[in-house]
Amino acid sequence: MKVLIVGGGGREHAIAYCVAKSSKVEKMYCAPGNAGIAELAECVPIGAMEFDKLVTFAKEKAIDLAIVGMDDPLVGGLIDEFEKAGIRAFGPRKNAAILEGSKAFSKDLMKKYDIPTAAYENFDNADEALAYLETAKFPIVLKADGLALGKGVLICNTLEEAKAGVKEIMLDKKFGASGNTMVVEEFMTGREVSVLSFVDGKTIKTMTSAQDHKRAKDGDQGLNTGGMGTFSPSPFYTKEVDEFCRKYVYQKTVDAMAAEGREFKGIIFFGLMLTEDGPKVLEYNARFGDPEAQVVLPRMKNDLIDVIEACIDGTLDQVDLQFEDNAAVCVVLASDGYPVAYEKGLPITGLDEFKKHEGYYCFHAGTKFDGDQIVTNGGRVLGVTAKGATLKEARANAYKATEWVKFDNKYMRHDIGKAIDEA
Ligand code: AMP
Repeated sequence: MKVLIVGGGGREHAIAYCVAKSSKVEKMYCAPGNAGIAELAECVPIGAMEFDKLVTFAKEKAIDLAIVGMDDPLVGGLIDEFEKAGIRAFGPRKNAAILEGSKAFSKDLMKKYDIPTAAYENFDNADEALAYLETAKFPIVLKADGLALGKGVLICNTLEEAKAGVKEIMLDKKFGASGNTMVVEEFMTGREVSVLSFVDGKTIKTMTSAQDHKRAKDGDQGLNTGGMGTFSPSPFYTKEVDEFCRKYVYQKTVDAMAAEGREFKGIIFFGLMLTEDGPKVLEYNARFGDPEAQVVLPRMKNDLIDVIEACIDGTLDQVDLQFEDNAAVCVVLASDGYPVAYEKGLPITGLDEFKKHEGYYCFHAGTKFDGDQIVTNGGRVLGVTAKGATLKEARANAYKATEWVKFDNKYMRHDIGKAIDEA
């Protein structure tokens, strides 16, 4: 089988790692890939939004399966384009990727089908949003409707902050057309848990849970980022929480999409908040989370290609999805200054160390080759993942492995998985 992976981050490296393990795969390409993925796949310099070039390439190389893991191309309809050209592709079509592409859509879906989530109102007019906020309870949450690199959510403590937020999202269009509509949502408190799942249109199979760390600095301080680290499983995702979500969230979401004529095939990521009133959905993503994929996929026992094919063929009910009975922690190594301004092109050493140790992974996010030397090429540079028998052991292993890697301006949080201590 010839496989094409679209993307070039840590998530795609983790996917490539699983695809490379499959006995069914003879050749793997990645567009555009990165320096780490290049060890497993032939990287081709085509961007994830260059649909025509991707389709032409896939036809030329007789690709048997294209895997799309990034939000922008999914929401933009890349799966539809592959399918039109007769190429088998994994991910939701455009009409289903809206589950992530529009927060207003997903909130309306949850309301219509009685899936637990925070109370909200949608606005496509700034004056009406401002009038509503005059009488609202604070804190309150403002969300740009569309994709915003994970930065379109503002938690506002006062009316003044909320007014500034409306200006930013709806008037100044900081997130472009993503701010044409805005969701105003009740502020919730509780622990956050991520649950990824495979979906074949009818059946849903959830993976092991994970927990992300979005803020740049220790103690959940600093700016929001794409994610500074993660661990799996989450000790807060108890049997009771799982049972509740099976009954009221997971299957209901899949059925709701089908009932709306938007059959969902691919990955649904459930961002949950465990509130005093029970679990509630914070957000849906239509693909693997990054860095969640970097702790969940290394623990999966199944052949990823088998599961993906079952999703496409509608036979997921026959798959026995299994995860190792251990734990994994991923610590992101970033360039100091991320997520604002940082240097690129700094040489990275120590990567070979990971080849000598079983259960340790170094997933590349922002890296590239400069001649023979691998150098930094982004804010999030690497995801260092380690397994362990317990979360504590996995955390100690991951932090030990972060010391193997060296580059100037290396920055990481030192409290990834610290929440485990409170469990
Ligand atoms: P989202 O992209 O919708 O998941 O939001 C990003 C982050 O903002 C979440 O991971 C939460 O930490 C926070 N957040 C979003 N919605 C709410 C809410 N209604 N109440 C409290 N925090 C929220």
